[in-house]
Amino acid sequence: MALMSAREYIDSLRAMKTRVYMFGERVENWVDHPIIRPSISSVAMTYQLAQDPEYRDLMTARSSLTGETINRFNHLHQSTEDLKNKVKMQRLLGQKTAACFQRCVGMDAFNAVFSTTFEIDEKHGTKYHENFRNFLRMVQEKDLTVDGAMTDPKGDRSKAPHDQSDPDLFVHVVERRDDGIVVSGAKAHQTGSINSHWHLIMPTIAMGEADKDWAVSFACPSDADGIYMVYGRQSCDTRKLEDGNIDKGNMKFGGQEALVVLDNVFIPNEYIFLNGEYEFAGMLVERFAGYHRQSYGGCKVGVGDVLIGAAALAAEYNGADKASHIKDKLIEMTHLNETLYSCGLACSCEGHPTKAGNYEIDLMLANVCKQNVTRFPYEISRLAEDIAGGLMVTMPADTDFKSDTVVGKGGETLGDICNKFFAAKDGVNTEYRQRILRLIENMCLGTAAVGYRTESMHGAGSPQAQRIVISRQANLAEKKNLARTIAGIPQDK
Ligand code: SF4
Ligand code: FE
Repeated sequence: MALMSAREYIDSLRAMKTRVYMFGERVENWVDHPIIRPSISSVAMTYQLAQDPEYRDLMTARSSLTGETINRFNHLHQSTEDLKNKVKMQRLLGQKTAACFQRCVGMDAFNAVFSTTFEIDEKHGTKYHENFRNFLRMVQEKDLTVDGAMTDPKGDRSKAPHDQSDPDLFVHVVERRDDGIVVSGAKAHQTGSINSHWHLIMPTIAMGEADKDWAVSFACPSDADGIYMVYGRQSCDTRKLEDGNIDKGNMKFGGQEALVVLDNVFIPNEYIFLNGEYEFAGMLVERFAGYHRQSYGGCKVGVGDVLIGAAALAAEYNGADKASHIKDKLIEMTHLNETLYSCGLACSCEGHPTKAGNYEIDLMLANVCKQNVTRFPYEISRLAEDIAGGLMVTMPADTDFKSDTVVGKGGETLGDICNKFFAAKDGVNTEYRQRILRLIENMCLGTAAVGYRTESMHGAGSPQAQRIVISRQANLAEKKNLARTIAGIPQDK
């Protein structure tokens, strides 16, 4: 089976024994849970579009490992064209879901672990690269979704992993056996973890010799013995428990983050990709983060496209679309959004092959991309809220709009009154206005705001993490020489 259908993907989740907790209890049927299901629908879209003749070329690739057609989310990038197509695919998925579709963390982890294991083996004579190739071949052949899991809880940020009062604050090896290792710890705010068949665990920071036991990377099934997940709440998430679809904002799709706990999980040797070679932890982190910072130049842009469209419709329904300041705000939103896309494409165009043969992005430009993502979606959201008006946060419930309760002296119902006073331009159906305002609310303040706003800040590393890479890549010494030459100053002065 090279490509799964969306239905097959959802059914494959049902066959898993993934342990999920929410609101203090285990969720047995998490696949059909109304809070979780929208996030599954987003991942399912990555399967659906791969079988759609209109999008197949963008959504699939030829595997460098098997020669078979595979989903691009499981692909090792073979060229700058592949890197660009990745960003285009993510923009497309953002447009189709207006949410985080989660599967990119696996794709970015595959490419980072593939190249890093090659270089570890080169130095240490280990077999990690072969292990990883075998693992990825299986992932490609079964068309699995994998959570590339990096972020540890981290405890006291001023302390290294081995210095923490609780060693579990970073994932670590608790026992080494002939046939494998036993690991404990947790990964925090894991995108799509519950919806993933497997987890690919990586370290989260550069490490020293004393952190050897924490320098570990491996793969394990999401329902392996000892793994469980605690669902992360999202703003307005309980609206998903209500009847009707208007107040949900996004009727069908959503994102997902969870705490993934590893409680003495056994990992067989064949699934280990780093085990104590601490000096490679930093390389793995930098490569994964680089790819994921590129990713944001695609997914956030696609979601931004939906938000810009929603703001334009809100203006139209209000009869304000001809006002020059509204037109200018939409231009500004578009300019900011396309600037992010430009960054995503630029770091792809400037990509280069790694020693292992797959392509990686230009690190400087990928970090500039993500740094802009920590800012522009906030401004785009601000302008969307400006155009939408206050009603996006003061509008009564959809049940009020549909209520038969008589409230008026003339026998008017609550529904009549809502529809009377929340009508906009003549000829515009009030329900459409409700729908578009709730969608804007969802992306700026509701469940999708996790993916569009706060994740824009902290996902793929907080702003300071990018500034550190930017400062390392800035080559100020060379820039000073340029200035000296132009100004007629000797190079040593
Ligand atoms: Fe993909 Fe964007 Fe979600 Fe990351 S935040 S997993 S890049 S959709
Ligand atoms: Fe993310």
